[in-house]
Amino acid sequence: MFLQENDMNDYRTHVEIDLGAIRRNAEAIKTSTGKRLIAVVKADAYGHGVIPITKALQGIADIFAVATVEEGVELRQSRVQEPILVLFSSLPEQAFQVVEHGLVPTISNWEFANRLNALTSDTIKVHVNINTGMNRSGVHWTEAARFLNRLKTLDQLTVEGLFTHLATADETDKSHVFVQLKRFASVLEEIPNGGKLVHAANSAATLAIPEAYFDAVRPGLSLYGVYPATERPIVLEPALTWKARIGWVGSLSEGEGVSYGLTYKAPHQTRVAMVQVGYGDGYPRALSNVGEVLIGGARRPVIGKVCMDVSVVRLKPTDNVLIGDEVVLIGKQGDAEITVVELAHRAGTISYEILTQIRTRVPRVFKH
Ligand SMILES: *Cc1c(COP(=O)(O)O)cnc(C)c1O
Repeated sequence: MFLQENDMNDYRTHVEIDLGAIRRNAEAIKTSTGKRLIAVVKADAYGHGVIPITKALQGIADIFAVATVEEGVELRQSRVQEPILVLFSSLPEQAFQVVEHGLVPTISNWEFANRLNALTSDTIKVHVNINTGMNRSGVHWTEAARFLNRLKTLDQLTVEGLFTHLATADETDKSHVFVQLKRFASVLEEIPNGGKLVHAANSAATLAIPEAYFDAVRPGLSLYGVYPATERPIVLEPALTWKARIGWVGSLSEGEGVSYGLTYKAPHQTRVAMVQVGYGDGYPRALSNVGEVLIGGARRPVIGKVCMDVSVVRLKPTDNVLIGDEVVLIGKQGDAEITVVELAHRAGTISYEILTQIRTRVPRVFKH
């Protein structure tokens, strides 16, 4: 039941990625902002699979952004030709790889810039990160103009972009965002930035703060169809559906417990089913006794502790569930839906963490 022909496969659990949804989300963001798109595909495209996602976004994204030099190299090795911005490139030892693979590094300190400059006689395009109040990286905004002037003495470096990152764009109170934007604006006033690509907006700002748009927006989460906050000015389609299959069906007599520690006790005769997904797949253990899944188009609760490889759910006496039946952990089944936002909330975390924790043991199946 609920196993459609195209869902049939050998997997105990798998993720389906709708690449069309990714493309439509990116188009919708470009249309609504009217700006260039720096598509953030770090952390394996938020767990979605970076190579297929990047290929799907070719022709829509102007620049791809990754977090690390290694992630940039992986894209180059898959013959991605577009500009690749490395959001956190700070170890001088990695400067060589940046040059070798033609990545666009982010400059946050002098030592890295100097090392890059010494490595080549070609021109290297760089972006400079300006710390306006996120306080985790970048050149402090009060020192940025001086730093940018000093960078001019490094002949090989061309500052192509200037950016900052916002700490509270996803919060209801946006006052700190405007403090940061004001600091950023003061830097932009001090230095001649004609022709430079200026960017600041993560997903939350892309969806809610036009003052943060500048020349390009830099969203990650929203590309994948997940809203970072309550503002929903455009329609985004979730691209990821996470499924698992029933592995066992059983019955508990009154007073019997379930799973490690027997933390759930059956109040009366209870039918249960084992779902083939656990924290070893990235299904959070925090969902023990609080998660819900979809079976036969209806919600059923997770009971007892989530194990490494499997979890247990409570059935209704009338449920007709067989081994191999489809269970939806994230996504739609019939008229019911569990969003990644809901799952994250139940697990006491955020969508970002849920998505990036889905292990490589869970195959990604791409739908075009
Ligand atoms: C991760 C990241 C983004 C994307 O953030 P989302 O909230 O996923 O849109 C943008 N800029 C920087 C510097 C980042 O580290």
